[in-house]
Amino acid sequence: MVTQVFELPKSLKGDVKYSFCPGCDHGVAVRLVAEVIDELGIRENTILAAAIGCSVTTYDFINVDALEAPHGRAMAEATGIKRACPDKIVFTYQGDGDFASLGLAESMHAALRGENITAICINNTTYGMTGGQLGPTTLLGQVTTTSPTGRNVEYYGYPIKIAEHIALCDGTAFSARVSLDSVTNIKKAKQAIKRAFEVQMHKQGLGFVEILSTCPTNWKMSPDKAHDRVRNEMMQVFKPGIYKDVMSET
Ligand code: SF4
Repeated sequence: MVTQVFELPKSLKGDVKYSFCPGCDHGVAVRLVAEVIDELGIRENTILAAAIGCSVTTYDFINVDALEAPHGRAMAEATGIKRACPDKIVFTYQGDGDFASLGLAESMHAALRGENITAICINNTTYGMTGGQLGPTTLLGQVTTTSPTGRNVEYYGYPIKIAEHIALCDGTAFSARVSLDSVTNIKKAKQAIKRAFEVQMHKQGLGFVEILSTCPTNWKMSPDKAHDRVRNEMMQVFKPGIYKDVMSET
């Protein structure tokens, strides 16, 4: 009989209390990033540009060097780190509000410049840490604390499809959208995260992954119901898939 012992990835700290709410997909996403860093053997050479919101606490859990650039500046900070230390592997871990609202200019221009970095963006259609306000990816009709009658086009406009926009930038080497609603999709998410690091290691340009994720606390749902919402509502608008992969084209 083969006995398999469950172990934490070396790129995760085991002696800290995680601050994510119970049932939140952030924990799964951070673990996938840590597993990928382990498997690529880059832990000692990797730097995280941390962001703001629930994502920011990642620097407490992930066992790599980290700097913080709150309120949308993570992609600019990552650019500076990478240009100063081109041999380092540099990545951001951001929420949709941070990446596509506060930091939309930083994110788009990093993609247009083809910065050789990796960006992970958690899309849960709301601002989690600050209380569930309307964000750039809030779905039409979605009730939030700042859209109490639901998002409507007339007043709030349309949600942004981040992975598609990033893929359109000529400097982007890889852009994908994945989901964490099932074991199969978690495996696909890990493959996409790995590819987003690999394109950086091969100096191809920006590697980007948008991860559809739950916020059970602000959605006021059980984790199970939250995953149903990801499947039945979010994935209908934000279609999972690989939108660009220059390494598969060569
Ligand atoms: S507020 Fe939402 S996104 Fe933030 S940790 Fe809690 S469940 Fe996750």
